[in-house]
Amino acid sequence: MGQIRFRSAVAPLRRSFQAKPAQLPSVDSLVAELRPAEPLHCIRPATLRATARRFVDGFATAMAPVSAGGDVLYAVKCNPDPAFIRQLWKGGVRHYDCASPAEIRLIRQMFGDAAQIHYMHPVKNRAAIRAAYLEHEVRDFSLDSVEELAKILEETAYAGDLGLMIRLALPKGNAAMDLSGKFGASRETAVELLRRARVVGERVGVCFHVGSQMMEPAAYERALELAGNIIREAGVEIDVLDVGGGFPVSYPDFTPPPLDDFMAAIRRGVEKLALPARTRVWCEPGRALVAAGGSIVVQVERRRGDELFINDGVYGSLSDAGVPAFRFPCRLVRPEGKSDAELMAFSFWGPTCDSADRMKGPFLLPADIREGDWIEIGQLGAYGATLRTAFNGFDVARMAEVADAPLLETPGHRVAARLPEATR
Ligand SMILES: *Cc1c(COP(=O)(O)O)cnc(C)c1O
Repeated sequence: MGQIRFRSAVAPLRRSFQAKPAQLPSVDSLVAELRPAEPLHCIRPATLRATARRFVDGFATAMAPVSAGGDVLYAVKCNPDPAFIRQLWKGGVRHYDCASPAEIRLIRQMFGDAAQIHYMHPVKNRAAIRAAYLEHEVRDFSLDSVEELAKILEETAYAGDLGLMIRLALPKGNAAMDLSGKFGASRETAVELLRRARVVGERVGVCFHVGSQMMEPAAYERALELAGNIIREAGVEIDVLDVGGGFPVSYPDFTPPPLDDFMAAIRRGVEKLALPARTRVWCEPGRALVAAGGSIVVQVERRRGDELFINDGVYGSLSDAGVPAFRFPCRLVRPEGKSDAELMAFSFWGPTCDSADRMKGPFLLPADIREGDWIEIGQLGAYGATLRTAFNGFDVARMAEVADAPLLETPGHRVAARLPEATR
């Protein structure tokens, strides 16, 4: 027999409440308090909510005149951290581009049936297709081959309620991260797949990805023109037109055109296709929704001239600073006081013993930076922590929510943003 406890009828009201919701700390105050020896991951909930709201509303508004409506699918692989995903939900995201059974389970666990999950990986294993359809009630699947169509049909027992999204190959573009080589059906295959999908699918769509960190709005227009030619040649009506991800954010080397320029380019491209009125337009942003919402505070363990040895690296959250050689915005965090020194260019070494654990930057920091100082590195909410490994045992990090604005603003991503003083 368990112990019996007394419970007052008004117990919930007896708890003490703070007068106002707790204020989140600033990055500087956290570093002063914790003096973290491990990387400290900082989440900016307000930034994530505002960016999601801007994207969801902006896309719906832009697509309303030319379609049945615009839906924003968050590309979960970009950052599957529930703390990020929860804020995107609060900002209005209800659709998810998942690419693995684990991502699908995560979203179902967090939101149940209220989340619309779309399985947008063109090459899936058979068990994953079955689990998605039977256990997780996923109905939309992307594909780029006749073989994949057969797999989807066989594993769902020729279900009558499938949404089949044909992934088109695009010519190599000029995105920072080109994605043209791996997936996508050629024109002839796409035409054939559209015709077959129209017979067996309840919903049919086309999708593509112009490449990640795509700086040129016209790339979406060109891809839409190509999609239009293929749809016309197939002679079928579609239900969904999915313009994919790729939307850029600011890095020290890049200031993208405003978000509205991308929305306008997509609207023009969709308008020219004169699609049936029932067509919905989707987009699948990853980077653009979460990059500004995450930063990482690292500590300097050694200085050797213009090289800094820090406690995170390419096997940790700074993968894109390695071979892809992204430059990230940085600032010194020194609880003892600010630095008045001039900025100079530094490169970083990560904590592992591998000489490939190098980030050449250049990263601009005060010339008097020294061992023991901390550095906040921004724009790491996308493709940062999610790429971490446990190589060499450097896999421990702390995590905190902060009130700070992002280190860099992306034009048109948020309204009324204010930059922190020390940001460069
Ligand atoms: C990775 C990926 C995305 C997100 O791309 P971003 O460049 O981060 O916006 C969207 N759709 C698909 C199919 C992807 O693989």
